Amino acid sequence: MRRFQQYIDGRFEDGMATFESIDPATGRAWALMPEAREADVDRAVAAAERAFTAPAWAGLTATQRGRLLARLADLVAEHAPKLAEIETRDTGKVIRETSAQITYVADYYRYYAGLADKIEGAHLPIDKPDMEVWLRREPAGVIAAIVPWNSQLFLSAVKLGPALAAGCTIVLKASEEGPGPLLELARLIDRAGFPPGVVNVLTGFGPACGARLTAHPAIARIAFTGGPETARHVVRNSAENLAAVSLELGGKSPFIVFADADLESAVNAQVAGIFAASGQSCVAGSRLIIERKIKDAFIARLKEKAEAIKIGSPLDQATEMGPLCTARQRAHIEGTMAASIGAGARLITGGKRPEGEGFYYPPTILDCSDVTASAAERELFGPVLSVLTFDSEEEAVRLANATPYGLAAGVFTRELARAHRMMRRIRAGVVWVNTYRAVSPIAPFGGFGLSGHGREGGIEAALEYTQLKTVWLNTSEAPIPDPFVMR
Ligand code: NDP
Repeated sequence: MRRFQQYIDGRFEDGMATFESIDPATGRAWALMPEAREADVDRAVAAAERAFTAPAWAGLTATQRGRLLARLADLVAEHAPKLAEIETRDTGKVIRETSAQITYVADYYRYYAGLADKIEGAHLPIDKPDMEVWLRREPAGVIAAIVPWNSQLFLSAVKLGPALAAGCTIVLKASEEGPGPLLELARLIDRAGFPPGVVNVLTGFGPACGARLTAHPAIARIAFTGGPETARHVVRNSAENLAAVSLELGGKSPFIVFADADLESAVNAQVAGIFAASGQSCVAGSRLIIERKIKDAFIARLKEKAEAIKIGSPLDQATEMGPLCTARQRAHIEGTMAASIGAGARLITGGKRPEGEGFYYPPTILDCSDVTASAAERELFGPVLSVLTFDSEEEAVRLANATPYGLAAGVFTRELARAHRMMRRIRAGVVWVNTYRAVSPIAPFGGFGLSGHGREGGIEAALEYTQLKTVWLNTSEAPIPDPFVMR
């Protein structure tokens, strides 16, 4: 079995214990992972705290920090095949997706490499003639970064990139499910030449390792991606250290199709939106909100495409859909499906696990138009599409916003004015019009409502890892006047 190590203070080491990582395509263990305990977390945070002020890191110019990030971007691109293979083995995500995703993981590091020396402060035109006032943007401090199991390389790049560009140091906790790619990434971070302790990578269980990390007194900021329930734990933990918290949580994203849309394009985007990554994507367009007059034609075409999806070994380049990451995830989907069908939802395709090994679940479409079904309300994190129907634009908006989440939305229409109205009225952090699942390091990403707060990507993300310092300089030679009056 393959063995991975954790990375603390510039050293690779075994954890206090190990646990087996399961290959979701077979259901069998394929690697041994280190299990970080509280003491490991404490050592990693102490290393990050030392590194934060050590001249080897704090003494670098922003341009030099950018060069380290650029080297990391090159190493990620160079080792893309290996990283993709480990991510596929460990999470079941198909190799064509993990390979493609590594390309833009490298792009994110490159973007923040370039941004490092463009994080500027300001000089204020202050209303006092003798004063000069500047705003300095200083690094926030030691960051606790926590990621879920899907897309760990990507979800950590959107935290490491801006945090390192800003001059922070980091303890990154991988998910206990599929941590292999992040532990491999640690080798590249080390090779890129980041001083010891600047980035530390651990994997351990949430209630022990994650809880200790997020409550640790030396943590200045927590960058969390995961589900809302865990986020509540994280926010409660942060009551200890009063760290700033950014939350990237789940979604139940609407995918709205008007009758005037380019239907073939919308069908393809819907396939990408719900069946890519077997639906294990925070932005999964899991609620199709379709104009009634095209419903039958649209569903017929979508069903045809869903049933033609090539399901198989995630390591095979031809495979389009692999297994779910965990058996628990599949059981959760099956439970919600049974309850929804019991409540009157109509199964259009899928809905039955295939025979054989691995945690597979087929592309599934469920008509929830006339019922209240939990499948149309809860995030399933799987390849299950719920269908809802509308007759008017007003009703489409109402259905789209009838969720406590607000991460992403898709709108398909060729009518320009309507596209503008919809993007204004939909409550979500990202609205895609006539496209879906597009990302870029240049574009901020994040949610409204239960989908969290804070932004990843773009300049805004780098600013989140800074704290503002206001500096006042008195240029007057005159003695300070009346000490009992505020100046
Ligand atoms: P979880 O919320 O279960 O876990 C996320 C991370 O939190 C894991 O590393 C987990 O560790 C850790 N954790 C668990 N308990 C605690 C705790 N008490 N304190 C601190 N950390 C803890 O999410 P999943 O792994 O199940 O991932 C799926 C969720 O992530 C979905 O809701 C999905 O929508 C969301 N997501 C959001 C994205 C976004 O950008 N908005 C992107 C991708 C996913 P461990 O694994 O050891 O339990």
